[in-house]
Amino acid sequence: MNHPAELRSFPTTILSQMCIDGQWRDAASGQRMPVYNPATGEVIAEVPAGGERDIDEAVKAARRALEAPSWRGLTPYARERLMSRLADLIEANADELAHLETLNQGKLLPWSHAIEVGGSAQWLRYMAGWATKIEGSTFDVSIPFPPGTRYRASTQRVPVGVVGAIVPWNFPLAMAMWKIAPALACGCTVVLKPSEETPLTALRLAALALEAGFPPGVLNVVTGDGESAGAALVRHAGVDKITFTGSTEVGRKIGAQCGQDIRRVALELGGKSPVIVLDDMDIEAAVQGAAGAIFFNHGQVCTAGSRLYVAKPLYEKVVEGIAAVANGTVLGSGLDPAAQMGPMVSAHHRDRVMALIATGAAEGGEVVAGGVAGDGPGYFVRPTVVANSSGKPLTLVREEVFGPVLVAMPFSDIDDVMREANASIYGLGASVWTNRLDRAQRAIDVLEAGTVWINTHNMVDPNMPFGGFKASGVGREHGRSAIEAYTETKSVCIAY
Ligand code: NAD
Repeated sequence: MNHPAELRSFPTTILSQMCIDGQWRDAASGQRMPVYNPATGEVIAEVPAGGERDIDEAVKAARRALEAPSWRGLTPYARERLMSRLADLIEANADELAHLETLNQGKLLPWSHAIEVGGSAQWLRYMAGWATKIEGSTFDVSIPFPPGTRYRASTQRVPVGVVGAIVPWNFPLAMAMWKIAPALACGCTVVLKPSEETPLTALRLAALALEAGFPPGVLNVVTGDGESAGAALVRHAGVDKITFTGSTEVGRKIGAQCGQDIRRVALELGGKSPVIVLDDMDIEAAVQGAAGAIFFNHGQVCTAGSRLYVAKPLYEKVVEGIAAVANGTVLGSGLDPAAQMGPMVSAHHRDRVMALIATGAAEGGEVVAGGVAGDGPGYFVRPTVVANSSGKPLTLVREEVFGPVLVAMPFSDIDDVMREANASIYGLGASVWTNRLDRAQRAIDVLEAGTVWINTHNMVDPNMPFGGFKASGVGREHGRSAIEAYTETKSVCIAY
């Protein structure tokens, strides 16, 4: 196909083929699927619509690579070196990768640079450091048989094996790296299934991994949709662990299948994260904090602060302030330096977000900012604030929108608001805005969330565990937790 001018300098393989066993291939079926620029609605590439046969080949390639001396025989330091080289290549190609992400995903270019590209290099380097620090322990045991026999016991951690990684479209490269980096540090091999909406940076990453010197088959990228390629990966008997980031709805299916097959699984799922502003907070700081919590990445963030609870004395002023931020936001292509918010990732997602706003209004929510789709051919939604001043049980209070839509409620009692905040099937993130240490610590104690932020929101770090309580997931990423997630513990018992 005729690619847009911005993409003409890219190797055509990454705009049209996928990477299995170090080779660039079409789907076995020959089918392809379009990739869009959400800021214009144009088709910018066509990638293979991979399915069962492609997944099978990728998993077999990952198995061969897992067992080959070229990967299994590497020292931890050699793995670290390869990962660092890949981080160097990501940085050397930062402009290209960031452009690709913004064209395909729609986010603002500076965020593609900082989070997708800069974050990916940082996560790789951090996890590369772990490769040489994976350890077990030795301990005494008290086995009395046969009399006179002594024992020495220890544990060692071994790679979990072939990892099937399935990721969403909101942070395409970063979410992939949250899985790939620890898996590689632990000596696993990977079959990555990027979102059908945003496959391009994953393909570019596969090319850079080969250039860095990773043996063929260590990182395979199979493009395709969830029902065919994704489900085939989850079912494949050659996969030792599935690591999934995406919706709770799909996570339930994946968890059920993995339970049936007794396959290891980690699930990073949806959220409906509360932002709680206490009455000692400065109004302007609360406005900026709460607006950033919901509007960052156009609200397409699993930890988006989408439920706002404000102490009654501050409620009107805070809601007014956030509405003003929303009304003043300039929408545009992520490549336009004047834009402050880009499009939703797809027409389908824009329609879903708009439908949820309409439901909120029909149920009695007051739309005080936004509530309309943006102009232009792209998939824009104006940042939206819905005031729910009488605390109605709106769908918007319960359901994840995954868009720039905030529902705001006043509260009078701190214990009541903590209960409200916890009254959700989700438990991914929560933030509390206060200058009082006693109140902050009380909130930290009672909030049911994988991450509790105080006077900040959405901040993550490779050294800080991340994951969900309740229906927001199973397992933790980052830090030591990630190393535990991609290794098995093997106990060793020696009689002498
Ligand atoms: P999604 O669940 O629709 O898709 C995620 C991935 O799963 C895609 O690659 C998709 O192709 C694949 N998939 C879909 N159906 C599948 C199936 N039956 N079997 C196997 N794979 C399948 O989610 P999305 O719309 O891409 O992303 C948005 C969701 O992701 C939101 O709910 C958001 O909260 C969540 N998310 C969570 C985190 C976290 O860390 N907890 C981070 C980012 C996004």
